Amino acid sequence: MKRIAILGSTGSIGTQALQVIEEHPDLYEAYVLTAGRRWQMLAEQARRFHPEAVVIADEAAYKPLSDALADLPIKVYAGADALCQIVQEDPIDMVLTAMVGYAGLRPTMNAIRAGKPIALANKETLVVAGELIMELAEKHRVPILPVDSEHSAVFQCLAGEGLFDGKGFVPNKIEKVILTASGGPFRNYTLEQLATVTKAQALKHPNWDMGAKITIDSASMMNKGFEVIEAKWLFGVTPSQIEVVVHPQSIIHSMVQFEDGAVKAQLGMPDMRVPIQYAFSYPARLKSSFPRLDFKACTNLTFEQPDTHRFRNLALAYEALHRAGNMPCIVNAANEVVNAAFLRDEISFLGMSDVIEKVMQSVPFQASPSYEDYVACDAEARAKAALLI
Ligand code: NAD
Ligand code: MG
Repeated sequence: MKRIAILGSTGSIGTQALQVIEEHPDLYEAYVLTAGRRWQMLAEQARRFHPEAVVIADEAAYKPLSDALADLPIKVYAGADALCQIVQEDPIDMVLTAMVGYAGLRPTMNAIRAGKPIALANKETLVVAGELIMELAEKHRVPILPVDSEHSAVFQCLAGEGLFDGKGFVPNKIEKVILTASGGPFRNYTLEQLATVTKAQALKHPNWDMGAKITIDSASMMNKGFEVIEAKWLFGVTPSQIEVVVHPQSIIHSMVQFEDGAVKAQLGMPDMRVPIQYAFSYPARLKSSFPRLDFKACTNLTFEQPDTHRFRNLALAYEALHRAGNMPCIVNAANEVVNAAFLRDEISFLGMSDVIEKVMQSVPFQASPSYEDYVACDAEARAKAALLI
């Protein structure tokens, strides 16, 4: 029985992770469930899954949540510090980081320090502090298993690619990682059209049903930029080895090109439960009841170049990756602020890239930041972005 702590159990990834657990009650147990603010939903999940403990980040929700669970033997905690502590509890076998944004960084670091394998959905963690996280994971010998569909695809393509010699595992060399992108709802829009798109339009993703923040990031292609950064850290490749190709059908989830020119791809229905389950069960594959791909119904798989003129965020993310240091942290912070502002109708779609670019130019560059430097840089970039909006 694997006891899993789900950070962000009320979200899109969190609820799908609970479906995976429900499919395999003999293998997985929801040991801890946590949420940001939605205490009612967290209480319902707790009644259904009987975790050992629940944590609500919003301290004001502690009272109603603990009242709602008063008749059950479930520990209830509140606050960001409680979230950071709970991930270190002895019985936990794996932590799924399915909370959104920079808030995922500290609990992820704590879970790694406690030696917990990470199923990583919270890509912002690797965008902000990829170097720190990978060093920490290596030091504590903790695996970071990708949940993001593209990275899970790459991970699946890499399975078995290498051999054991006298000293250990020697992986076959990757020539290129090819990340697919759906292109989002505005793939064919002109710049003039992009200037006036609304949040309602941006929230309608053609292939995936996800949380609001990542849906906006997908429409602006910042999500793909972040995934390029995520790929660098997860697979140890250089920026020039990571290519993005637009594939509107989202059937090929990503690809790896090896040194001999051979390309492996992972295909499937756009269904996050598959990569979530693989992160839980790796290296095994488990039987599932999820919908199957029908090749008779997908006769048209197409590919295009991404357009960084219309979707500048992708170019900004590549620039941040090339400059490295605290630059990805700056981009992430500015992006979180403009993303939230766009959802409040306080900034235009194209205005988001303008603000991010200006924040990148105005926050001082640091080549090798410490954790404290990241915290300070995140705060400064947020303040600058808010001011510009
Ligand atoms: P979501 O908005 O649906 O859910 C976010 C969860 O985090 C909720 O449970 C919320 O209560 C919790 N949360 C929010 N702020 C918090 C805070 N400050 N402290 C503690 N908890 C907080 O988001 P999602 O779509 O499930 O995405 C979660 C993460 O997974 C993101 O980093 C996203 O980039 C990544 N991801 C999502 C998908 C997807 O299909 N949804 C795919 C790939 C990667
Ligand atoms: Mg993805």
